[in-house]
Amino acid sequence: MQISALEYLRCPECREHLSMQDMTKRKCDIRSGTMECTGCSHKYPVIMGRPALLPDGAVNIWQAPLDEALGVPPGTPVNGALSVNRLKEIGIERAIEILRNRSTNSELIESDPNMVTKVLLGRARYRISGEWFKHCGRNERLLDFPAKGGGNYYIFREFMNTVQGTQPEYLIDLLSGGGYGVTHQAFGNRELRRIAAVERDLNCLWSMQYRFKHIGLNSISESIGGDVRRLPIASESFDTAMTLQGLVELYGIRGFIKEAYRVLRQGGYYVAHYSEDPVTYDILSLSDLRKFALAADLYAGHEQFIEAAEENGFGVISTRVFEGTKAKKRITVFRKM
Ligand SMILES: [Zn+2]
Repeated sequence: MQISALEYLRCPECREHLSMQDMTKRKCDIRSGTMECTGCSHKYPVIMGRPALLPDGAVNIWQAPLDEALGVPPGTPVNGALSVNRLKEIGIERAIEILRNRSTNSELIESDPNMVTKVLLGRARYRISGEWFKHCGRNERLLDFPAKGGGNYYIFREFMNTVQGTQPEYLIDLLSGGGYGVTHQAFGNRELRRIAAVERDLNCLWSMQYRFKHIGLNSISESIGGDVRRLPIASESFDTAMTLQGLVELYGIRGFIKEAYRVLRQGGYYVAHYSEDPVTYDILSLSDLRKFALAADLYAGHEQFIEAAEENGFGVISTRVFEGTKAKKRITVFRKM
């Protein structure tokens, strides 16, 4: 993590500045240390070079959003694709009742930071060494720039061009996953001067950073551990935000949109690539899934998403639909008005 990232990193709890303590570094690159909030004194670690700025109660591993909404304990195996089976078994009406009865306290699932750090350190070393990429065809899939193809490749290209067309110098990628979208944007768009990628699954951070390094952009790019519903990012600090396909994997769509809006400068763009409809996997009817998704604040479909974005102050600049190989995809450009 570059020292300069402290210019825009903030405490996810109170959004105050962070001060670095007990730091080890190589030149401007912070390898380990603690970031302490100058406002509320919360502490966040830098683990093997990566800042982990998860708010209290955030789960640091990915959970199916349905499970998260229903309060299923982390670590419970996903039931079917994105746990849609679980929803079917519970039944829509009963599931909506569970949502209503969940107290706000049950949102706060405490993670054990010591346990987390220990497990992560092993994985981090493995990924930083590049060893992880040597298996399961990851070298070919993840380190081949520019991407040569794959399912829905032309839609991906369109998305890349659309992001580039907003002419950002400062770009933030949200719901980054392994960083496929953001590393390709970084590779193809040499106008970028600052790149941040926020992902809650901390395992992804080291492999994503490895990819930034692989394309020679380590010094301007940061993979950051964070929750997109409470971004550890200063307000109005980026020109363009992007998400590639993450929305269906998110619980808390409205909070996310608010945060995306907040971190953009006035007039900044948010470019989203997403599925037209929530994915039913043919397990539930679309109307049942949509009904639950709306009640639970999960991704409920294109129209509902646009509506939520407009309610939060975004204007729609353009929206285009594409016939994907499995389902319709959308690329929408929003502007912070
Ligand atoms: Zn704070």
